[in-house]
Amino acid sequence: MRIGIGRDFHRLVDGRKLLLGGVLVDEERGAAAHSDGDALLHAIIDAMFGAAGLGDIGDNFPDTDPQYKGADSRKLLRHAVALLAERKLRVAQVDANIMLERPKLGGLKPVIRQAIAKDLDLLVYQVNVKAKTNEGMDAVGRGEAVAAEAIVVLEEIS
Ligand code: MG
Repeated sequence: MRIGIGRDFHRLVDGRKLLLGGVLVDEERGAAAHSDGDALLHAIIDAMFGAAGLGDIGDNFPDTDPQYKGADSRKLLRHAVALLAERKLRVAQVDANIMLERPKLGGLKPVIRQAIAKDLDLLVYQVNVKAKTNEGMDAVGRGEAVAAEAIVVLEEIS
């Protein structure tokens, strides 16, 4: 069995869209980033590379490379799926945490799950997304940042 862990953190700034799992969460305040700043997908991709022994997201999609400027993280995710498939590996399970003070994600969690499951070719029950605030503490709690962490289990494609 192969297990990987991923974590990502982005500063929140006015005038950017906030995407999590490829889903639009906030239109007015989003992640400052070279790519689209989708912290949740970045954490999941890092966990996938970790589980496969393929380094990290920066090794595979360098942010110094202009082709990744403003990159759609759902495309990066599908690219990561393809890199794993070349090694006869696929994702079997994802569990993830989002740390965001506002907006509250309650109603969006099922939508985010579904979006990730679709991109990974999984059933919804194989993807779990949890959301928490940081109770006002630290940068996340002050609404200055979003963080995400993920654990991914890979299985071999027979
Ligand atoms: Mg990131």
